[in-house]
Amino acid sequence: MPMQFKKAMDQEAVIIECLRCGTKNRVPRLRIDDRPRCGKCRAPLAVEAFAVRPVETGDGTFARDVLASGAPALVYFYSPSCPYCRMLSPVIDEIAVKYEGSAVIARTDVTVNPLVAQQYGIQGVPSLLLFREGKLVKRMVGVLSGDEIERSLKGIIKLS
Ligand SMILES: [Zn+2]
Repeated sequence: MPMQFKKAMDQEAVIIECLRCGTKNRVPRLRIDDRPRCGKCRAPLAVEAFAVRPVETGDGTFARDVLASGAPALVYFYSPSCPYCRMLSPVIDEIAVKYEGSAVIARTDVTVNPLVAQQYGIQGVPSLLLFREGKLVKRMVGVLSGDEIERSLKGIIKLS
C-alpha cells in the first residue's frame, strides 16, 4: 500500500484553529459538514480544507486516480439529474470520509465523461464499481444502503 494511504486510517478527528480567537478545536471527521463552531467564541470554523470529498474523476483522469492509485477503489458513476443518485450521493460522501486513507473513493459524472462510462459498460446510474490493483472486481447497480456498499468495500480492502 502506498504511503499516502497509510497516514489517516485511524484518524477520526481533525484540529481546526479558529480564525477569530485562535482556539484549537477538535472536530470529528463525520461532523465536518455540520457547520461546526468554535467551542470558545462560537465563530464558524473554516472547515473547507478538511472536508473530505469523493475524488471527481473522469475521462482524462480515471487511469491516474483509480487504476494507478495502488489502493482499493470505489467509483460511483452518477448523473446530476438522476433522482436515485441524489439519494445515493450523501451515502457516498459519508463513505469517502470514513474510508479516507484506506481506499480511493471517487465519482464520475457520466454526462460529461462518456468514454470511461462506455469503457466500463455503464448502462445506467447509479452504478458502483470496485477496483483492486487497477482491475474491476465488482459491479453494483442501483440504490444500495451504505451498509451493503461498505461490506463490499471492506471485502476488497481486506484482500489488498
Ligand atoms: Zn474562536
